[in-house]
Amino acid sequence: MNHETSLSKAREIADRVLAPAAKQNDKEGRFSTDAVDALGRAGFLGLTLPTEFGGTGLGPRTFAAVTAILAEADASVAMVYLMHICAAAAINAARASTAVAQILEEIASGGHLSTLAFSEPGSRSHFWAPVSRARRNDAGVRITAKKSFVTSAGRAQSYVVSSLAPEGAGPTDSTLYLVPAGVRGLTVEGSWDGLGLRANASAPMMLDDCEVPYELHLTNDGAGFKAMLEVVLPQFNLGAAAVALGLCRAAVAATATHLKSARFEHLGQSLGESLPTLRAQLADHADRYRRPLSAHRRPG
Ligand SMILES: Cc1cc2nc3c(=O)[nH]c(=O)nc-3n(C[C@H](O)[C@H](O)[C@H](O)COP(=O)(O)OP(=O)(O)OC[C@H]3O[C@@H](n4cnc5c(N)ncnc54)[C@H](O)[C@@H]3O)c2cc1C
Repeated sequence: MNHETSLSKAREIADRVLAPAAKQNDKEGRFSTDAVDALGRAGFLGLTLPTEFGGTGLGPRTFAAVTAILAEADASVAMVYLMHICAAAAINAARASTAVAQILEEIASGGHLSTLAFSEPGSRSHFWAPVSRARRNDAGVRITAKKSFVTSAGRAQSYVVSSLAPEGAGPTDSTLYLVPAGVRGLTVEGSWDGLGLRANASAPMMLDDCEVPYELHLTNDGAGFKAMLEVVLPQFNLGAAAVALGLCRAAVAATATHLKSARFEHLGQSLGESLPTLRAQLADHADRYRRPLSAHRRPG
């Protein structure tokens, strides 16, 4: 798969799998397993992973363009995808171990969805400063933590979890750990009932004395903050912007459809035919959001 074929495959999945179910899934707050399966089968879960693990080895440009295409059809699925790619980046940046290599291969083969479990109610939007702290034991660490929003909660096969390092002295002395689903003590606490983006299962999760062996420590002790800011955050910012772009494109397209189909019966014209102000505003917005990502350049 290259950049161009990735985009055409993403469009095909968006049209065939995401778009027909998006409205009902959003209404019912239903996570789309079909969408994740389709993305996995087509190789999108390993889009940015190195080829040595079976990934496609494509870069941020393709990731952003694919995410925007998915968001145009279903922003919840795009968000699930974005959090997965962020988690995959953190796993890929981890120190080498057999366990980590095996998970990267599972992701690349399409059977493993991952996500981030950073935010905690104690530090709220300051996701880089967990208040939970890991405790050392013989096999690795034990973690007790409350995570406030975890996209794909209960649906992912693994969670990239942040927690203060056992001997960390300050609020950013954290470590990243990989916690597989099914580990004893890991539970989803409630459901996600948001105002929008309702179909991505962004629910709270609880880790109750979960044991994480050394081979699943993704960073050295205290190096979690650096990985969150340097590995995860750039992908997150890019992906979140791509989700917003996809939403904007969808809004522009829906507006165009409305202007063409809603009619003034007494004038025998559509809104668009009748009102030049609406046509002008639509043209302005379409110009901003329709162009491909590569066409968005800084002025000057
Ligand atoms: C749909 C959804 C999915 C999510 N998925 C994940 C996930 O997968 N993994 C994960 O770890 N987290 C996830 N999050 C959590 C997210 O990263 C934030 O931690 C969370 O939204 C913070 O919410 P809050 O109400 O606690 O914000 P608060 O901390 O109460 O912030 C409220 C407002 O104050 C602003 N604010 C806070 N501090 C400052 C400051 N210093 N200066 C200026 N403004 C400030 C914030 O920007 C915000 O507008 C998700 C959130 C949502 C809504």
